[in-house]
Amino acid sequence: MTLDGGANGYDAETFFGQRGGITYNDFILLPGHIDFGVDEVELDTRLTRNLRLKKPIVSSPMDTVTESKMAVHMALLGGIGIIHYNNTIEEQVRHVRTVKRFENGFITEPVVLRPDNTIADVCRIKEIYGFSGIPITEDGTLGSKLVGIVTQRDISFETDTTKKLSEVMTTDVITAPVGITLQEGNRILKQCKKGKLPIVDGKGRLVSLMSRTDLLKNEDFPHSSKNEAKQLLVGAAISTKEADKERLDALVDAGVDVVIIDASQGDSVFQINMVKYAKKKYPRLEVIGGNVVIARQCKSLIDAGVDALRIGMGSGSICITQETLAVGRAQGSAVYHCAKIARKHGDIPIIADGGISNLGHLTKALALGASSVMLGGMLAGTSETPGEYFYEAGVRLKKYRGMASFEAMGAGGAKRYFSDEDKIKVAQGVTGAVVDRGSVVDLVEYLAQSLKHSMQDLGCRTLDILHKTLYNGNLRFEARSSSAQTEGGVHGLYSYKDPHLGLFKQVMDRREL
Ligand code: GDP
Ligand code: GDP
Ligand code: GDP
Ligand code: 5GP
Repeated sequence: MTLDGGANGYDAETFFGQRGGITYNDFILLPGHIDFGVDEVELDTRLTRNLRLKKPIVSSPMDTVTESKMAVHMALLGGIGIIHYNNTIEEQVRHVRTVKRFENGFITEPVVLRPDNTIADVCRIKEIYGFSGIPITEDGTLGSKLVGIVTQRDISFETDTTKKLSEVMTTDVITAPVGITLQEGNRILKQCKKGKLPIVDGKGRLVSLMSRTDLLKNEDFPHSSKNEAKQLLVGAAISTKEADKERLDALVDAGVDVVIIDASQGDSVFQINMVKYAKKKYPRLEVIGGNVVIARQCKSLIDAGVDALRIGMGSGSICITQETLAVGRAQGSAVYHCAKIARKHGDIPIIADGGISNLGHLTKALALGASSVMLGGMLAGTSETPGEYFYEAGVRLKKYRGMASFEAMGAGGAKRYFSDEDKIKVAQGVTGAVVDRGSVVDLVEYLAQSLKHSMQDLGCRTLDILHKTLYNGNLRFEARSSSAQTEGGVHGLYSYKDPHLGLFKQVMDRREL
């Protein structure tokens, strides 16, 4: 309510209650009172009922955005990546395993070899997994007696790859007893200056392994999203199809932390059945449902048992659903109304998915009640996305395509749109190109810092506080006329240099290529 004629703007209830179809550009947030420094702002948040992130940023399960490289970096940076499913089960599982193996506390299932394996076997492991520090046990399995260790240094200058590992391995291995804490293990690793520390039981049998590289990784990225075993968090998408129950089993077996049931219209019996199935079979797996945009849809999926909801229909940068099918919702309204109902029914976190085209949109999505924000277009074109760069008119570009573009559907992406068996496929997305944006590391750090400044201006030190002010009416909103939007952008200059060009903005916005 407002008793001051709008002098201090409007609370969310009044603002959104009176208007339909609000996009991020249609409103502005009014300032709060600052009583803390920008460094005191904390961005940690809930992704789902039981998973927390250090930064509210999620990379979208799209085949031009998230495979293992993006997911590793998103988790290192404190967000999370969701591996797309436009691939075989084996390929998707391989991406999940790569992320889970990237960093560890105790490596509980280390790759092990026998003394009569050869150097060629180590090279093969290096090629598949990327590491070559291999404990050698009597029979080549975990749980058998440790007899040596082989590392890169032992084989670098060997030309005969048929040589047995028993001839090159080090046998006087420094080990630590099972039961030691991670801190103790880390201390021994630092002291002994070796790259690996095998952990053995009282009879000298190998139990697990520790790696010095992980100490360094933890120092380089101290705010990463990890589980208790210090493995990076990773998610994966599955469809609502019966056949994807097999995909679900394989992903869980690979250690996935969360699955997203990926459908453009999430309120279906197919999705409800899949949510119930997944939660019953794997009660500890976090399951995200979606996409939904209205309260009624949210309620259906919350009743089915989801741990978070993904909000957005037709607002993505590559998306033509609203124009093609005339169904969807403006993203501001969708996020506000869905977050409100999800909070009321079990305090389920929501993910604002799609339509983030500038830094302010990120803040606005969170200010409307989202706990995290899913990015596709803004991350596309970074060096961590799948695909190769190419040049057009001298500009370095990378492909970015909708999962319902003809091209992606041709490669299997139509599962999201209930249309993979259709004879005539209707496109709900486009294929395009985005400019090279460098590494996602710089980009995400920049996004996070900018978000901290926004939160300071709003007078909210944490996302929890931001949401409290949203619902108690202290967060104030005002409509932006089109001239207000013009005024809020750069205007009246002969020329200027946009500081964000190349970082997340295009060199030029071209509607058609
Ligand atoms: P952090 O915030 O990730 O550092 O986690 P904690 O504060 O819970 O760290 C507890 C201990 O685990 C500290 O001694 C860290 O150095 C150590 N640690 C954290 N991450 C890793 C890792 O990935 N590998 C190893 N070996 N140790 C880690
Ligand atoms: P290496 O010296 O060639 O073994 O490789 P690094 O020490 O540079 O990299 C090893 C990284 O792979 C660490 O972050 C480990 O946590 C991770 N890793 C995951 N699983 C395994 C495993 O089974 N064996 C080894 N050696 N490393 C693993
Ligand atoms: P690298 O630098 O990745 O090759 O690996 P390390 O620093 O672990 O190993 C360097 C050399 O030390 C190799 O020849 C190992 O076989 C040898 N080494 C000797 N004792 C040990 C031990 O107790 N642990 C490990 N990891 N390596 C040992
Ligand atoms: P962006 O961040 O680029 O604005 O939006 C990314 C989001 O758009 C994705 O997370 C997904 O929800 C949605 N999306 C991806 N591909 C398509 C598509 O082909 N059509 C539609 N309608 N939405 C898509």
